[in-house]
Amino acid sequence: MKKIQMQTPLVEMDGDEMTRILWSMIKEELLLPFIDLNTEYYDLGLAHRDETEDQVTVDAAEAVKKYGVAVKCATITPNKARMEEYHLKKMYKSPNGTIRAILDGTVFRAPIVAEGIEPCVRNWKKPITLARHAYGDIYKNTEFHIEKPGKVELVYTSEDGEEKRALVQEFKAPGVAMGMHNMESSIESFARSCFNYALDTHQDVWFGAKDTISKTYDGRFREIFSEIFETEFKEKFEEAGLTYFYSLIDDVVARVMKSEGGFIWACKNYDGDVMSDMVSSAFGSLAMMTSVLVSPQGYYEYEAAHGTVQKHYYRHQEGKETSTNSVATIFAWSGALRKRGELDGNQELAAFADKLEKATLSVIESGRMTKDLAAITTLKHPKVLNSRDFILAVRKELEK
Ligand code: NAP
Ligand code: MG
Repeated sequence: MKKIQMQTPLVEMDGDEMTRILWSMIKEELLLPFIDLNTEYYDLGLAHRDETEDQVTVDAAEAVKKYGVAVKCATITPNKARMEEYHLKKMYKSPNGTIRAILDGTVFRAPIVAEGIEPCVRNWKKPITLARHAYGDIYKNTEFHIEKPGKVELVYTSEDGEEKRALVQEFKAPGVAMGMHNMESSIESFARSCFNYALDTHQDVWFGAKDTISKTYDGRFREIFSEIFETEFKEKFEEAGLTYFYSLIDDVVARVMKSEGGFIWACKNYDGDVMSDMVSSAFGSLAMMTSVLVSPQGYYEYEAAHGTVQKHYYRHQEGKETSTNSVATIFAWSGALRKRGELDGNQELAAFADKLEKATLSVIESGRMTKDLAAITTLKHPKVLNSRDFILAVRKELEK
């Protein structure tokens, strides 16, 4: 059989622990037998990040700017315990944070829907893609505990000395206070990423904020979304038969629950943090959730939404059998290969990505799955496979 060729390299970012094990099995069994895989490889495994003092993460992100499409394995974000475990020189920042800071993107998360893994919300028939604004608000706040009576004010001093001052609260007794901000440039690129991704995936965009209460802050989010939509996207949306819809966040939440799914839900930072966990758990499992970072310049980085599955890795290291779900990692590869195929006009590659996804889903739908899915499936008598056997079952299906 002739292998599928690739004109442009894909940026490949390897990672840590159990997902690193799955990564090499996926390449070995599901990709290399069928594709003449052309990747520029960056090892983001923690040991190599430490060796390069994290330069490898920066280089990998720069490579995404060069080639446009990347696929990333889950990676460890070091904490104190990891410092000791890996004898690290420094407590490096989260690779995803570093990459996002360089590419300035928005993260879109979507559940992988399979028959037999039914969402808790009965009327959700199609995936809901959640877009979370990943800059500012309470994630970059400054806050005080107020211990005794006094007043808290918000003061702005412009570079040329102009001053704005507003009373936050006259405290008669202990309390709490907080200041936070956002940047128009960041809100603009968030809006553009959402509208571009909507055109790309042919889905409507829903956006909710609380501009009745926060007339200036949330009001500015609403205005920016509306301005960018009207001036840059309205015609393209009309041509594609798509809509942009704004409402209050509480109204949007209520409508989401009653909907069939099949749209992009744009969320402010905090709303996205909270709602993405709700949406992913309601659709079944974090192990069935993909994640793609889309930059306003149109660079794409695909990954699984879950972490490195540390506990399973320790079991694997002890020589014990694991049943770790590789679906989101397989879909990260298929997403990246499809996008590479589309950008290069390589239909064979894009078609392979479709077949890989179909093969993966049909294994699950035939009742063979990893332990996490067996625990929640509506299929009768599921057969639990270990990590490797699941991937081998997908390979058999793919060969058909
Ligand atoms: P995790 O890897 O998401 O796993 C947490 C638990 O969820 C697992 O113990 C497992 O539950 C279940 N799970 C997650 N993915 C699964 C899969 N594919 N198949 C089966 N079960 C799955 O989170 P963690 O173990 O708390 O974090 C490990 C490391 O991942 C951390 O160092 C963190 O920094 C990193 N992390 C990286 C990313 C990223 O790179 N994008 C994201 C999040 C976390 P059971 O044990 O009950 O089976
Ligand atoms: Mg969260």
